[in-house]
Amino acid sequence: MYRSDSDGLRAARDQLVRYSARLLDDGLAVGSAGNMSVRVDDTMAITPSGVSYAEMRPQDVCVVAPDGREPAGGNRETPSSETPMHLAIYAATGAGAVVHTHSPEVIALSAARTELPAIHYAITGLGGPVRVAPYVRFGSAGLAEAAVTALDGRSAVILRNHGAVTYGRDLAQAYERALLLEWLARVYRLALSYGEPAILSADELAEVTAESRRRRYGERRAAAAGDEQP
Ligand SMILES: [Zn+2]
Repeated sequence: MYRSDSDGLRAARDQLVRYSARLLDDGLAVGSAGNMSVRVDDTMAITPSGVSYAEMRPQDVCVVAPDGREPAGGNRETPSSETPMHLAIYAATGAGAVVHTHSPEVIALSAARTELPAIHYAITGLGGPVRVAPYVRFGSAGLAEAAVTALDGRSAVILRNHGAVTYGRDLAQAYERALLLEWLARVYRLALSYGEPAILSADELAEVTAESRRRRYGERRAAAAGDEQP
């Protein structure tokens, strides 16, 4: 850790170490595979390349500017090989954090399907059915472009024969979405074992989204009313 770190950067380093350890426990990656990042002001804090999650320390987290360069005074670690993909997602979306996993259910699906369909209404939390982006080599600008294209209107994308990417307003939300995506892929696979599963229609998903919004609005009003109490 560096004395010149802002509070935001210090918090991002700690969060990235904490969630990286969870990545292994939750079965979303093995060894040092997968990576995650947090937007900090006009830079990005990202996990280093080739450091096992079990051994990662806050000072190993790398800082990268939007042009891909590391500001002076960085550490000795090399930023994740998927740095171009993370930067492209921040440039194209309002993401506050990005999580990239190598989780088995989504990878298995990606090898056989072009989309994860609406097997459960919770998929509205990811923006709807999740596309599988075409295969492009890891770490390439082409993969970054394919991921951004397939993310259109979604907060999740599956990368064919590779893994998945989710983003959110913060690392907690991006991570929850990675777990949700893996769970949905598992449910879909289980449903396929019974035969051809029923899939929710666009209208049914729109109804869920509208109802979720209505309820969130109600919660905000209740919370605001609660604030006024002595
Ligand atoms: Zn990867």
